Amino acid sequence: MRALNMIQSPCPHLTTFSSSISPFLLHKPIKSTPPRRTRITRSSLKSFLDLTPENKPESLNVDLDWHDFTGGSAEYDAVIIGCGPSGLRLAERASMHGLRVCCVDPSPLLLWPNNYGVWVDEFEAMNLTDTLDKVWPLTTVIIDDHKTKHLDRPYGRVNRKALKTKLIEACASNGVKFHAAKVWKLDHEEFKSTVLCSDGKELKASLVVDASGFASSFIEYGEARKGSHGYQLAHGIVAEVEHHPFDLDKMLLMDWRDSHLGNEPYLRARNETTPTFLYAMPLDSNLIFLEETSLVSRPVMDYGEVKRRMAARLRHLGVKVKRVIEDEKCLIPMGGPLPRLAQSVVGIGGAAGLVHPSTGYMVARALATAEVLADAMVVCLGSTRMIRGKPMHGRMWSSVWSGSRVSEREFYCFGMETLLQLGLNGTRRFFDAFFDLDPYYWHGFLSSRLSLEELGLLSLSLFGHASNSSRMDIVTKCPLPLARMVANLALQAI
Ligand SMILES: Cc1cc2nc3c(=O)[nH]c(=O)nc-3n(C[C@H](O)[C@H](O)[C@H](O)COP(=O)(O)OP(=O)(O)OC[C@H]3O[C@@H](n4cnc5c(N)ncnc54)[C@H](O)[C@@H]3O)c2cc1C
Repeated sequence: MRALNMIQSPCPHLTTFSSSISPFLLHKPIKSTPPRRTRITRSSLKSFLDLTPENKPESLNVDLDWHDFTGGSAEYDAVIIGCGPSGLRLAERASMHGLRVCCVDPSPLLLWPNNYGVWVDEFEAMNLTDTLDKVWPLTTVIIDDHKTKHLDRPYGRVNRKALKTKLIEACASNGVKFHAAKVWKLDHEEFKSTVLCSDGKELKASLVVDASGFASSFIEYGEARKGSHGYQLAHGIVAEVEHHPFDLDKMLLMDWRDSHLGNEPYLRARNETTPTFLYAMPLDSNLIFLEETSLVSRPVMDYGEVKRRMAARLRHLGVKVKRVIEDEKCLIPMGGPLPRLAQSVVGIGGAAGLVHPSTGYMVARALATAEVLADAMVVCLGSTRMIRGKPMHGRMWSSVWSGSRVSEREFYCFGMETLLQLGLNGTRRFFDAFFDLDPYYWHGFLSSRLSLEELGLLSLSLFGHASNSSRMDIVTKCPLPLARMVANLALQAI
C-alpha cells in the first residue's frame, strides 16, 4: 500500500525471478537464484532493524531518443515532467495518437523504487496483467485474534521493471523524446509554456503536464496545503526469512492484531489510539514483502515507532529475517485540498491529488486517468480545432477532475476523517462491517469506481451491517466531518 520521501531501490534477487516467470504461476513456489554481487549480511536474528538493506539503484537498458538541443528550438505539443507511472503512461497514450511529447526526469531510465500492490481487476481493465509478477487469488484481513476474513478478490504485485519497460519502450517507438534533468521553473505565455531545466536548457510546449509526484512544486492547490491532510506512513521490507506463517496463495491486506505488543505497554497504548497493521505479500516460503502501516494519521506518526512495532510483531510471529533485500519508507499525503482547477500547468498522479484519501492507493487510478487526460490532449492538441490556452487547460483539468469526481472525493475524504477518529477497536469494527458489504460496494469504494449515489447507498448499507458500537462510533465521533462533507457537497452543487 501506499511521497515525499522514500528510500529503496530495486532488488537484483527479485528482478531475476520477476523477469523469468509467467505472471500467473499461482501457488507455484518461485525459484529464486541467489543474487550475484550482493553482500549477504547474516543477522544475529535479533531484529531486522539490525540488518543493512541491500538496495541498489538499477537502470533499464532501453534506447531512448534524447531531445537534441543543437537543432534549433523545437516546440512540443506537450512536455511531461516526471517519468513515474503517471508521466510515462500519459506520454505513451498521447504519443500513440501522434502528439509530439517530451518527458523530462533527472533519471528517465532509473527503476521506480516503490513496491506497488493492486487489485487484479483494475489491471485487467487496462490490459496490464502481464506486468504483474505475482497474483494471489485470495486476500485476507485479520480483524483480531478471533476473526479473519478471506476476500474473494485477487491481488497482484506489480513487476515495476516490466511495467516501466513496457511503457518506456512504447514511448520510444511512438517517437517520444526524453531529457535527463530536473525541471526548475515554468514560464507560461497565453498559448505556450517554457520549461527551464536544472542544466540551463529550455524546452517549449503548448502544454506542460506535471507528473512529478506528491511533492510537486509546480501545481497550485486550492488553499494552504498544510492542515487538512492525513498521512499514510509505512515501513516495508522485501526480506529473506527463515520461514513465515502466511499462506502462499493469500495476500495479507491487513492484520490488526496487537497481541505482539503485550510486553510493550507504551507501544500498546499508542497503538490503541494510532493503530498500525501488517501488510504482507508472501512471494515464496522464504521470501516475503512485509510492511507495517499506519493507514492514516494526523500529524504523521513517528517513523521509528512504526519500525519498533514491526520488529515486535515479527518477533511475536516468529519471523526471523535473514536478509533485508530492499526497504522502503512510504509517506503518502492523503486528502487535503485539490489542485486549483484550470491553472496553466495540468497535473496527473500524485501531483494532481489522485491518491485515494481513505486508502493511500493510487497507481491504478493514475494509470487509468492518464488515458482520459491523453484523450483530452488529443482533442485539443491533435486536431485542427486548435484549442489552446485557457480553454485547453479547463478541458484538461476537467478530464482529471470532473465535477462528479470532485464530489466523490468529498466522500472519500470523509472516509479518511472517520478513520482518523476511530482508534484500534473502532477501526476493527469498521473493517469488520466494511468487508461484509456487497462486494460491488467494497470493491468500488477501494477502486474509486462508485458514483455519489452509490456511495450514499454504501453508507446506509455499512450502517446496517455495523455493530451497535460501530454505529455509536459513527454517530458520536464523526458528526463534524459529516457536516463538513455535506456542506462541501452543497457548495459544489450551487
Ligand atoms: C513507498 C510507496 C509505496 C507505494 N505503494 C503503492 C501501492 O502499493 N499501490 C498504490 O496504488 N499506490 C502506491 N503508492 C502511491 C502512489 O501510487 C505512488 O506514489 C506512485 O509512484 C505515484 O506515481 P506518480 O507517477 O504520480 O509519481 P512518482 O512515482 O513519484 O514519480 C514522479 C517522477 O517525477 C520525477 N520528478 C520529481 N520532480 C521532478 C522535477 N522537478 N523535474 C523532473 N522530474 C521530476 C521523479 O524523479 C519521479 O521519477 C506508493 C507510494 C510510495 C511512496
